[in-house]
Amino acid sequence: MRKPDYRTVANDHNTNAEESNAVVDSVMEAPEPVFRIDAEGVVRYANEAASDLLRTFSPGLGSDLPTDWLTSIRKLAPNGDERAELSVGERIFDICVSARTDSGWVTVHAHDVTHHKVAALDAQRLAHLDVLTGLPTRSVFQDQLAQVLAVARRSNRLAAVLVIGLDDFKFINETQGHASGDVLLQMTAERLSRCLRATDIVARLGGDEFAIIQPEPAGAEGIDQLARRLNAALRAPVSTENGEILPAASIGIAVFPDDAEDADELLHHADIALDRCKAEGGDDHRFFIAEMNAEVQRRHVLEHDLRLAIDQEKLQVHYQPKLDLSTGRITGMEALVRWIDPVHGFVSPAEFIPIAETSRLIIPLGDWVLREACRRTKQWNDAGLGPLKVAVNLSAVQFRNGTLLDDLRAALAETKLAPELLELEITETAAMDNAEQASAVFAGIAELGISLAIDDFGTGYSSLSYLKNFPVQRIKIDKAFVDDIGQTAKGGAIARAVTTLGQSFDMAVTAEGVETAEQMAFLHGVACQEVQGYFVSKPLPVDSFEEFMQTFDPSPFRPAPDQASFDWNTQRRKWQRGLLGEFEAFA
Ligand code: C2E
Ligand code: CA
Ligand code: CA
Repeated sequence: MRKPDYRTVANDHNTNAEESNAVVDSVMEAPEPVFRIDAEGVVRYANEAASDLLRTFSPGLGSDLPTDWLTSIRKLAPNGDERAELSVGERIFDICVSARTDSGWVTVHAHDVTHHKVAALDAQRLAHLDVLTGLPTRSVFQDQLAQVLAVARRSNRLAAVLVIGLDDFKFINETQGHASGDVLLQMTAERLSRCLRATDIVARLGGDEFAIIQPEPAGAEGIDQLARRLNAALRAPVSTENGEILPAASIGIAVFPDDAEDADELLHHADIALDRCKAEGGDDHRFFIAEMNAEVQRRHVLEHDLRLAIDQEKLQVHYQPKLDLSTGRITGMEALVRWIDPVHGFVSPAEFIPIAETSRLIIPLGDWVLREACRRTKQWNDAGLGPLKVAVNLSAVQFRNGTLLDDLRAALAETKLAPELLELEITETAAMDNAEQASAVFAGIAELGISLAIDDFGTGYSSLSYLKNFPVQRIKIDKAFVDDIGQTAKGGAIARAVTTLGQSFDMAVTAEGVETAEQMAFLHGVACQEVQGYFVSKPLPVDSFEEFMQTFDPSPFRPAPDQASFDWNTQRRKWQRGLLGEFEAFA
C-alpha cells in the first residue's frame, strides 16, 4: 500500500505556504511522530514517524484522527505544559501540543512510551512474585483460589487447599542463621513445585507458610496421596553452608465445597487444620473437620473471658498438700490456679493454661498466682500453720520472659515471704528449650534463694547431664509413672529408678498423683521422700486448706520400709481425722 504523503496533503489545503514550510522543515527530521492539525482537526502535516502512526488509524488516506485523540488533543494546554497518554493498538504515546497559530493550527508531538509502560507493568507483576522463591504471593494465590472455586462451583467439582508450614522453622532460623533459613525456603518451594501436576497452583503465603490449590482432586484419596508425597519430599535433608538441616512440614487441608463456601474461609480452615497438625507433633497432614472450628471458637471465647477474669481478679488459687513420707508431716503445698467462670463453669487449667501461654496472658496470670501464693504462705506461716513451703508452677513462657527475675524479686519484697519458702516448678522441656539462656535464669533464681523443682519428670528429655548442671533441688515423678505401680510386673520400675536417680544427685523426689494405698506402700518402700495426690488430699480452696491443716494429725508414725502389711488407709484416716469426705467436694 502506498504511504499517504501528508506534506502533499497539507500543501494542497494550506493557504499559508510560509507557515507550513517552516514547520515542515523543523519537524520532518524528528524521529518521533510530529503532526499538525488545523482548526477542524484535519491533519495538515505529518513527519515520517507520524504518517506511519496515522496510517494505523485510517489505513486508506488517513487524514482524520480518531475522536478520542482529537478530544484529548483539544483539551491539552499548549506549549507542552500538559500531557495526555493515548494508545494505538499495543503502543502507548505521551502527547503534548505546541501553541495554536492564528489560524488555529496546532502541532502535536507524540512520544512513544510503550517500553517504559511495559517495564512498569513487569515490575508490578514481579511484585506479585515472592522474591526469594519466585512463587506467587498471597494476594495472587487468593485471586487464583477465587477463580478455581468459581469454576468448581459451576461444574460441581471439588477443589482442595493445602497449607504447608515448616516445622520448627523459627528454631532453624535462629540456630542455623537466616541464610540457611532462606535456603530451606527455596528448597521447599522447589520440592513443592516438583510434586505438582501442571494444573495445581502453588504460592508462598508468607514466612514459612506455603499453599497449594488442587483443582479437581481425585477425592479425599487423591488429596491424601498428594499430601503424603509432599510430606515425604519435604523430609529430605537440606545442605546449607552451616551444615545439614533435617526439615519436616505440617500440612492442613480444606476441601471445597464440604469445608467452606468461599476462598477466605477455605484458606482459614486449612490453616486451622495446619495448627492442629503442628500441635500434634507435625511432620504429617490433617484434614479440616468441623469440630476443629468449634474448638477454635471456644479458644477465642475462653481467651477473651480469661483476660477479663485476670483483669477483674476473678481467679483463685487452690493448694494441694504435700506429705513427707519419712515424717508423716505436711511440709508444703502446690499452688494451682482455678478459674470458675459464671458462664463456662469450672474450666480446667489443662485447657486454659495453654491458651494463656499462646496469648501471653500467662505473664499477668502467672505473676498474680505467684504474689497470691507468696502472700498466703507468709500469712499461714505467721499464723503458725506451718512451716509451709509453697510450690508455684512456672510456664516456659514466663521462664523465657525477660522480667522473670525482677517479678520474683518484687513478689518476695512485697509479700515479705522468705525465699527459702518458695519453690518454682518448671518442666524439663521448658528448661531445655534454650539451655544457654536457661542456665542464666537458673543462676538468677538460685541467687535469690528460691529453689527449683523439675515438674512432670520423665515425660520430656530427661537429660541427666542437664540435671547435673543446673541448681535443681527436686524432681517430681509424673503421675503416669505412679499410675503404673501395681499395674504390671514391672509397674513402678520407672518410679523406683527416678527415686534412685534423684538420691544420687542429692535431690528430693516427690511422687505426683498418688491415689492408692498400694502406691503409698510402694513409694515408701523405695524411700521416695514426698508424695502429693488425692490419697492425701485434693487441691483445696483457702478455707478448706486451713481447716485441713488445723485438723491434720501429724503423728510421726512411720512404718519400717519393709513393713509390707502397714495399713495406709488407717494412717490416712489418722492424718485427716475422717474429714476427707468434706474435702472431696473440692476437685
Ligand atoms: P501439674 O503442675 O502437674 O499439677 C498437678 C495436677 O495434677 C493438678 O491438676 C492437680 O490437681 C492434679 N492432681 C494432683 N493429685 C492428683 C491425683 O491424685 N489424681 C489426679 N487425677 N490428679 C491429681 P490441675 O490443677 O488441673 O493442673 C493441671 C496443670 O495445669 C498443672 O499440672 C500445671 O501444669 C498447670 N497449672 C495449674 N496451675 C498453674 C499455674 O498457676 N501456673 C501455671 N503455669 N500452670 C499451672
Ligand atoms: Ca506442678
Ligand atoms: Ca506435674
